[in-house]
Amino acid sequence: MNDEELLRYARHILLDEFGIEGQDRLQAARVLIVGAGGLGSPAAAYLAASGVGHLVLADDDEVELSNLQRQILHTTDRVGWPKAESGKHMLAALNPQIHIQALVQRLDDEALDEQVGLADLVLDCCDNFATRHAVNRACVKHRKPLVSGAAIRFSGQISVFDLRRDDAPCYHCLFPEADDAEELRCATTGVLAPLVGIVGSTQAAEAIKILTGMGETLVGRMLCLNALDMQWQTLRFKRDPACLVCADRDGQPAAVPPN
Ligand SMILES: [Zn+2]
Repeated sequence: MNDEELLRYARHILLDEFGIEGQDRLQAARVLIVGAGGLGSPAAAYLAASGVGHLVLADDDEVELSNLQRQILHTTDRVGWPKAESGKHMLAALNPQIHIQALVQRLDDEALDEQVGLADLVLDCCDNFATRHAVNRACVKHRKPLVSGAAIRFSGQISVFDLRRDDAPCYHCLFPEADDAEELRCATTGVLAPLVGIVGSTQAAEAIKILTGMGETLVGRMLCLNALDMQWQTLRFKRDPACLVCADRDGQPAAVPPN
């Protein structure tokens, strides 16, 4: 690390749990962020500012005026830009010392498989179940840690699926895929702007903890926030031995941990 980097990341390095070693780990990491909207904006901004060495930002949408209320990577003069490019523009200004890759595409199975395979960690910041399940399947296959966030109206959810671990549940263990699942989207139902900031920032915090090996992550726990009365709840859950996606992880049936 050069003098400029030591100065830039000094407030991380000062933390005993972090130190230069933790900062070096962030710098060596490659993180895939699926979605450059409400959740992806704060998550990507904090990961870029924190010095994650390689960020891949994937989104096939364009910036619209109605996004600007909450998607703080984007600015009024970039309405009409691809979100991934607009996001890259902002992140590069935040931290020119990291590598940022913009993927202006909806990651289909093949591209998702490739990008998840290359990543050290994946952030699910998308807004639909089909993508969430596709991202989960790729993370199960490649055994990559997945940090998942969701926000709608006044409700937020965050969890970590650390699929490197044999005892860790996957997204499908918690939310089995169903054809008739009711899908609410911010585009049609509304969402409190800072709520996506709270959830996306929490995703960034969990990602940094996983990449540096600090603390206890949200594996097997889902944080649920009701922002209207500002109450947090923690739901605990386990790996589903009959999960259609991960029961046969690496040819091994799900190990059911005691209790
Ligand atoms: Zn599962």
